[in-house]
Amino acid sequence: MGETDDPGFARTASGPDRERPVLAVDLGATRLRAALVGADGTILARAEGPSATERGPAAVLDASEALLVAVRDAPGAESRAGPGAAPLAIGISAIGPVDPRAGVIVDPPNADRSFRDVPIAPELGVRLGLPAFLDRDTNVALLGEMAFGAARDVADVVYLTVSTGIGGAILAGGVLLHGPDGTAGELGHLLVELDGPPCGCGARGHLEAIASGAGIARAAREAIVAERSPLLATVAERAGLGRVSAADVAAAEDAGDPAAGAIMEGARRAFAAAMVTIVDLFNPTLVVVGGSIARAQGDRWLEPARVAVRTTAFRTAARRVSIVPAALGDDVGLIGCLPLVRRRLAGED
Ligand SMILES: [Zn+2]
Repeated sequence: MGETDDPGFARTASGPDRERPVLAVDLGATRLRAALVGADGTILARAEGPSATERGPAAVLDASEALLVAVRDAPGAESRAGPGAAPLAIGISAIGPVDPRAGVIVDPPNADRSFRDVPIAPELGVRLGLPAFLDRDTNVALLGEMAFGAARDVADVVYLTVSTGIGGAILAGGVLLHGPDGTAGELGHLLVELDGPPCGCGARGHLEAIASGAGIARAAREAIVAERSPLLATVAERAGLGRVSAADVAAAEDAGDPAAGAIMEGARRAFAAAMVTIVDLFNPTLVVVGGSIARAQGDRWLEPARVAVRTTAFRTAARRVSIVPAALGDDVGLIGCLPLVRRRLAGED
């Protein structure tokens, strides 16, 4: 097996370390989760609380430490991990942007403004007495899919998640692309429509502004205010304008509402356009698409992207690539901490 055929699993941990579990933290926009992840990727113990970034970095660090201690000391966790199998290290998956080298969460737009420059990996490492490694949630998810999911044994993979926001990650030749600032792979901010709708990042016309849950909901609010969607207007009357969700828009499309149909179609087309750019840029063997919206839409979401790539992408790259749904669900950020730890301990990425 060639160097790039083995995406950094078997060769990155050896001897007894290969049998040891890792402690995992997943800091999302709303939830803070921790787990003890066994050497085969199974979750041996888990704990969870609110991420509550508005309480400030110190409170989030304390909460993370408490959850880690809880899963480390969970009854039976050690025997399930195997005799004497103390945790190898801590892996941390967090909302970006992060500085993966320094282990610092930089300035996440989806967290409270006080939550800036948080040295989460060095802090938790000292508190738990273990090496600790951090990466952006999408990078960790890609590693999880590579170790245990849809991208096993593939060295050139692009990962996209389509939910409230749109995130991405790139593995090229078996190596995660970080860039000097750690922001490489922020594929939600690919430009798909010059002067298009506003994006959460402050710019306009980005993929996330059109095809994410937040973007779909924003377009729905405009349609309701302009009285273009009677069906969504009834949802807004019931739940409030600010609570109309992408799921409501998808349901309204299915019920035959033309404005909702146009919004969903626009989202799928924007995603398809971005996919052509992604395939042309990175020549991936595989594109793995996760996230709640992609999951709910299924082939209805992926097929327009496949057709656009087939007809519009650079021909050689288009022939190679497969576009597939993610295989791991909600736990991907926890499970991905295992390959994250193993790869970093081996000096990779
Ligand atoms: Zn943007």
